[in-house]
Amino acid sequence: MLEKIVLASGNAGKLREFSAIFADDGIEILPQSQFDTPECPEPYFTFVENALAKARHAARHSGLPALADDSGICVNALGGAPGVLSARYAGDNPKSDAANNAKVSAELAGKSDKSCYYVCVLVFVRHEHDPQPVIAEGIWHGQWRETPAGEHGFGYDPHFYLPEHGRTAAQLSPEAKNAVSHRAQALRGLTAKLAAFSR
Ligand code: IMP
Repeated sequence: MLEKIVLASGNAGKLREFSAIFADDGIEILPQSQFDTPECPEPYFTFVENALAKARHAARHSGLPALADDSGICVNALGGAPGVLSARYAGDNPKSDAANNAKVSAELAGKSDKSCYYVCVLVFVRHEHDPQPVIAEGIWHGQWRETPAGEHGFGYDPHFYLPEHGRTAAQLSPEAKNAVSHRAQALRGLTAKLAAFSR
């Protein structure tokens, strides 16, 4: 019976979001900072490898089951970039959403294919050496729009245009985004898999 899970992140927003979802099942989500967890290197080219590394790292330092996520945006005409480099595509000194967005816009200028997608991968491990991690992925398709619009969300949202909504992700209310986003899809997949696992 799962009672506590350590979250492999220092992000307070993620802690709130995951805590609310798992509270219904009586599961407490603890931040990895409670266990003096040092930052985990994320040297890999894929979201799943980085998420798995973070989950194992948090399980090792806490002795608890661990949940990690890794997310970003992939632009088809750029061969999937920014990908796992999404947070620091324009450099990390300092990390800047504005600089990241400007870099993607410049690289896409003159290209006709503006298709892109957000990816979120969630990985749950029961312990550091778990041979069968539970993995769920969410993908949210959109089109890169050079002119930013909207004041909600974060990161690439002002440029992430959703034809079916006729607006960018940053023009969606937080509730509307949280119902359909890559993160929401991955979370639904993960909770379904965990429920099936604990039956
Ligand atoms: P992380 O998974 O929180 O480290 O996010 C990686 C990076 O991907 C973020 O810093 C953003 O640049 C980008 N990203 C991930 N999810 C979103 C989103 O929902 N909206 C906008 N940008 C996102």
